[in-house]
Amino acid sequence: MSNTYGPTVPAANQDLVLRFWGVRGSTPVSGPQYVEFGGSTPCLEVRCGQRMFIVDAGSGIYNLGQGHRTDLPREVDLLFSHLHLDHTAGLPFFKPAVLDCDRVINTYCGNLGGESAGPTLDRLFAPPLFPVTLDKLCCTFNHHGFEAGQTLTFPDGTRVDTIGLNHPQGSVGYRFEHGGRRLCLISDIEHSDPWPDPALADFVAGADLMVYDGMFTDGEYPTCRGWGHSTWQKGVELAQVAGVKALAIIHLHPAHSDTALRDMEADLQAEMPTAFIARESQSITVGAPRAVSRRASGRPAVAREVRRRVKVA
Ligand SMILES: [Zn+2]
Ligand SMILES: [Zn+2]
Repeated sequence: MSNTYGPTVPAANQDLVLRFWGVRGSTPVSGPQYVEFGGSTPCLEVRCGQRMFIVDAGSGIYNLGQGHRTDLPREVDLLFSHLHLDHTAGLPFFKPAVLDCDRVINTYCGNLGGESAGPTLDRLFAPPLFPVTLDKLCCTFNHHGFEAGQTLTFPDGTRVDTIGLNHPQGSVGYRFEHGGRRLCLISDIEHSDPWPDPALADFVAGADLMVYDGMFTDGEYPTCRGWGHSTWQKGVELAQVAGVKALAIIHLHPAHSDTALRDMEADLQAEMPTAFIARESQSITVGAPRAVSRRASGRPAVAREVRRRVKVA
């Protein structure tokens, strides 16, 4: 994986590029203990060449909207893993939705038995929970529902495979293929017993990069059973059985500080050297050689500079 923290550069047509705009699970956090990995909740940008997808609208979508006002397509495809608050609460703060009246946002939701996200978002973003409804925003929303397991085919012919995941109210995993590379996004999920689940192993088989829910460690998990999340160790087990080449851990626990996550990453890389814990603002060209410059402390040298720039933006 090539791995940078600078502004998103236009992808070469054959590149499959992933950018993490939010990697924290459950609730946003802030403070000096979260500077390296970030505190925004899930929002990922996937670029298949010039073709863009957004996956989830956690608080990370705010910075995505700040950075991308000029190079977003007129129609934005937003795929939801599911609709829990940490994956939806940023939506009304996505500037291209608020301010750009020619913008169309197509949402895709696959964990509600075919129902779209529309009725749920209309309940969430309405007084007295929220001051305005989404139809007051300048953009136009088109909400699409599908059944997890279906392959999504978009008007330009792009196809994205999906799979249902074990999570309260369900969740959807996505598989992107472009330029001979395969990227799988597998969050939010609680692992099964026995593990790995054969259908999931088949879905992620041979992926160049799998993004996986590592909210807990195996040591923490027994007291959090049934909460719908997994561990980095289960991500490694799945990756190794399925021949996944690299693994990125997201949905980081709000209590896991930079120090804890750096220690966790050392343990993770002892098991799987190509695995890492995702950092907010990090971009990955899937399948390209990965280079992370590190200081003696283990902290990527460039991460802090980017985070400072994001804060003043
Ligand atoms: Zn979540
Ligand atoms: Zn959830």
